[in-house]
Amino acid sequence: MKIQNYINGKFSLPIANGWIDNYNPSNGEVYGQIPNSSKEDVENAYIAAKSAFPSWSQTTLEERSRILIKISELLEANLDRFAEAESKDNGKPVSLAKMVDIPRAASNFRFFGNAITQFASESHESVGQNAVNYTLRQPIGVVGCISPWNLPLYLFTWKIAPAIAAGNCVVAKPSEVTPMTAYLLGEICNEAGLPKGVLNIVHGLGTTTGQAIVEHPNIKAISFTGGTATGAHIAKVAAPLFKKLSLELGGKNPNIIFDDCDYDDMLNTTVRSSFANQGQICLCGSRIFVEETIYERFKTDFVEKVKGLKVGHPSERDTNIGALVSKPHLQKVKSYIEIAKEEGATILCGGKAVTVEGYENGYYLQPTVIEVKTDDCRVNQEEIFGPVVTIMPFNTEDEVLQMANKVKYGLSATLWTNNLKRTMRMSSQIQAGIVWVNTWMLRDLRTPFGGVKHSGVGREGGFEALRFFTEAKNVCIKY
Ligand code: NDP
Repeated sequence: MKIQNYINGKFSLPIANGWIDNYNPSNGEVYGQIPNSSKEDVENAYIAAKSAFPSWSQTTLEERSRILIKISELLEANLDRFAEAESKDNGKPVSLAKMVDIPRAASNFRFFGNAITQFASESHESVGQNAVNYTLRQPIGVVGCISPWNLPLYLFTWKIAPAIAAGNCVVAKPSEVTPMTAYLLGEICNEAGLPKGVLNIVHGLGTTTGQAIVEHPNIKAISFTGGTATGAHIAKVAAPLFKKLSLELGGKNPNIIFDDCDYDDMLNTTVRSSFANQGQICLCGSRIFVEETIYERFKTDFVEKVKGLKVGHPSERDTNIGALVSKPHLQKVKSYIEIAKEEGATILCGGKAVTVEGYENGYYLQPTVIEVKTDDCRVNQEEIFGPVVTIMPFNTEDEVLQMANKVKYGLSATLWTNNLKRTMRMSSQIQAGIVWVNTWMLRDLRTPFGGVKHSGVGREGGFEALRFFTEAKNVCIKY
């Protein structure tokens, strides 16, 4: 199957560079091709977006809202088709895509379809000066959205929905490894009546297609989610062009467990926060710190539960852990297990590739728990982004806080405790954009989302996203 670009409401072939193979991670086979889009393809997408902008930016909020909500409804109506496509591209269990990824993509459109109607501008009366100020929130123009492979449609739409709700027109690139649901989204947008050119999707490599979007002098803002090194590169390219930038980057999130927590809830949630989506979620708690008093108990119970997770083909109902996204990624994750051994850590369970009968060339790996001796080893400091977690004990609050903060990342953190004062102290001092207490991944789309330090710049979610995708203009009137 050949995926095509979606430009000006039509599906089109790449102009020059030909095609890239697309692999199914569950069996290692090529099952399609995507355009290897060039600068010319990006230029065509830009021209379509630019032409659509005057009309779309003047479309009433009610009409924009209606179209976004229609897209949401159509995604819900096509749940099975989208979930199967997502799983085939990414290797994630179909059940997960059905329960989380596709419903969340639909929610992104519904949420921003509603939010835009509530996004009020501010006004200030300058008392004693006979003047009034009001602030317009105007769409930026043509914006670029670039997303990764781990939650393909979920993160793609998390950018596109607020961008178009705010009146912008978009040139977007999904990850080259997981293009399928973005491709299917084009059809849905046409069916929902999204005017042609408002959303344009170009497929291709990050270093060529993605780079062409970032370098384009008239694409005025870039919303990017992906790795920290890519984010740093994009920031360098965008800086001389004075683009607005939102960067959602890597993480190495601490999961801190105190002995006064609700143990069973903590244990079950920790299995999920460690291994959901094969551990390929930027918010996974990949460093587990456990209070010494319950460390041995936790270690035994956790390892037993992890050993019970079923690694299998993504379409099987009882599969907990599907395939990793690609062969190079599997190799990268496996290399960290070797690094752990060299560093003197203990592999408590997992650590080996899995052969799934009938799918022998798929990219499967056992969920892996590594007991580390010290927090500053590489497996505890570098983002692995796979089904691999580290565990180690701690004695005091100060000690664990120091270890939690001693990484270059600062995306999210999870705390397990029933001590209110400790909750307040720790959540204020942890260096992260998001702190969960006694839960994980509980999301309210109105809340700010993003990281500090090398985990990113800016915030997505709620009005933060609408602020990013608009320019504030103050008007001061003297009367
Ligand atoms: P990458 O940084 O490799 O890629 C992300 C996107 O950027 C892809 O579409 C990629 O294209 C594109 N890209 C690559 N190089 C360039 C370039 N020079 N210019 C423009 N675009 C480019 O990340 P991954 O896809 O590997 O995703 C995993 C990473 O994403 C992890 O580090 C993870 O932590 C992070 N992430 C962060 C989240 C957050 O909210 N903070 C959420 C989810 C993931 P291509 O695929 O073709 O290379």
